[in-house]
Amino acid sequence: MQILNISKLRNGIGILKKQENITENLTAEENRKEITETMENAATEKKPARRPARKNTTARKKKTDEAAGKEEKGGKAEKKARAEKKTKSASAETVKVKKSGKNKDGGKDLKQNEHSSKLKIIPLGGLEQIGMNITAFEYEDSIIVVDCGLSFPEDDMYGIDLVIPDITYLKDNIDKVKGFFITHGHEDHIGAIPYVLKEVNAPIYATKLTNGIIEHKLKEHNMLTKVKRKVVKHGQHINLGCFRVEFIKTNHSIQDAAALAIYSPAGIVVHTGDFKVDYTPVFGDAIDLQRFGEIGKKGVLALMCDSTNAERPGFTMSEKTVGRTIDAIFDDNKNSRIIIATFASNVDRVQQIINAAYKNGRKVIVEGRSMVNIIGTASELGYINIPDNTLIDIEQLKNYPDEQTVIITTGSQGESMAALSRMASGIHRKVTIKPNDTIVLSSNPIPGNEKAVSNIINELSMKGAKVIFQDVHVSGHACQEEIKLIYSLVRPKYAIPVHGEYRHLKRHAELAVEMGIPKENVKILSAGDVLSIGEDVFDVTGKVQAQGILVDGLGVGDVGNIVLRDRQQLSENGLLIVVVTLEAGSNQQVAGPDIVSRGFVYVREAENLMDECREVVQEALDNCLDR
Ligand SMILES: [Zn+2]
Ligand SMILES: [Zn+2]
Repeated sequence: MQILNISKLRNGIGILKKQENITENLTAEENRKEITETMENAATEKKPARRPARKNTTARKKKTDEAAGKEEKGGKAEKKARAEKKTKSASAETVKVKKSGKNKDGGKDLKQNEHSSKLKIIPLGGLEQIGMNITAFEYEDSIIVVDCGLSFPEDDMYGIDLVIPDITYLKDNIDKVKGFFITHGHEDHIGAIPYVLKEVNAPIYATKLTNGIIEHKLKEHNMLTKVKRKVVKHGQHINLGCFRVEFIKTNHSIQDAAALAIYSPAGIVVHTGDFKVDYTPVFGDAIDLQRFGEIGKKGVLALMCDSTNAERPGFTMSEKTVGRTIDAIFDDNKNSRIIIATFASNVDRVQQIINAAYKNGRKVIVEGRSMVNIIGTASELGYINIPDNTLIDIEQLKNYPDEQTVIITTGSQGESMAALSRMASGIHRKVTIKPNDTIVLSSNPIPGNEKAVSNIINELSMKGAKVIFQDVHVSGHACQEEIKLIYSLVRPKYAIPVHGEYRHLKRHAELAVEMGIPKENVKILSAGDVLSIGEDVFDVTGKVQAQGILVDGLGVGDVGNIVLRDRQQLSENGLLIVVVTLEAGSNQQVAGPDIVSRGFVYVREAENLMDECREVVQEALDNCLDR
């Protein structure tokens, strides 16, 4: 998909000097870990300090092909290239000369650029509202994008299914866009990928589970073969354009989350993504705090850190504590069927429910489309361990006594179409709620969903079921002490709070000041702000288009503000239609006026009003026809 072109080559030379600076800081171990981006030939050209130019172009061509074919092979090629590198000692200087020779347009003035260029950080969403996280990082002719999420509609966005980011800025700079780096597999970080990549197709870099979930999404949109993807391990580095991006292990309410250290010629930016500190995660390792500290020691220009729980003091509890609560619930309700609703993406939660079920000799049914999808992907990729003969199909439910079954379902947020809602309102085709059921909501309502969740609890209780909804959940986001921990490890010069509503960002900004960051070095951005950032600059220097785009069914962006305003008015005031039939040519009135109203008044009890209305219309009509 990527085509080697002159401007990329030129850029290769342009950043040559800056790459050197970064490279100096690399330890031998980091060098080993690093994987160099080979999907793009130009990128290969850009790292002379580590990758001297080779005369053997066929070798390079082969390496590129291999890398495009399979990651492991790329890795081998990389090692080979490294070994090769060691035997040669071509200096950066030589490479520069060589490239200049190739470049017909003539190179830029490198030195001058080095000093005049700035790193720009441009959030295209995710600040005014929860969700729709997407941020562009731009340096000279390179743009990388971190996350590509969607958000769900506000209550007054009638008929809207999703909101996706406006990526006009990326489209206008499409040649610069090198790739998308995805921190984790939640919808507010990956949901817009199919929409955005249709217009700005660049490779996606993500960890294994995140990539698995993205692939599922791309498959649904028939885009799997059109979008390049690369699975990245924690600790790996990716070189793209002017940037190098390192994936750092974090914990969150979905596995395989990563923070990103973004190395740019202007300095290092650490982006935490959504994270928490879990010293005893259910699966895999704890957050790599050591690495945050190492990068902090190098000197970090800016920290972009999760603000979601910035108002909450203390620490977020380990996911394991929920496992203990679940065990206790199973112990207390040995004689009833247990139905547990949780977030589909919280694979660790599902794992702990399955563990409890297995211990108690219960069979497990997974219900709800997104739950089935994600658990399927997670088990394929080895992120969840389901003992043999534990999972049964929902069709087999009737073959087991209630006290030997557990149903894990979607709908913990009261979503009207989710499985739990359908069970609660008695329209689920396979599961009927019974008085002896124990129903657990293993989640907290996301702000805005409280009412819907409360409705579900009411409906389930009316059917006689026992509903447990308190303390069967821990957050996936860092509380104040964890945020402070990250600040003390990373020690950034500038702080840019991200992820959260304004009040969360505000509280986070205060925390940053408490942690010793000067007030003027802390900035809360808005979507569309262009933040210029460097050792001696930290200013919003521009604004780009960044309003959300509304998706209504298959229509992307065809419902704008005007249509939405009409819908709001219809919802508040109803509708009156006047129908009059005129004969073509003579303009003779042959029928009407008739008044049709919807959502306005109860017509049967307002006949006088309607009659009057007709009279007024007739008068107006006569006036027109007389003229
Ligand atoms: Zn998020
Ligand atoms: Zn998340």
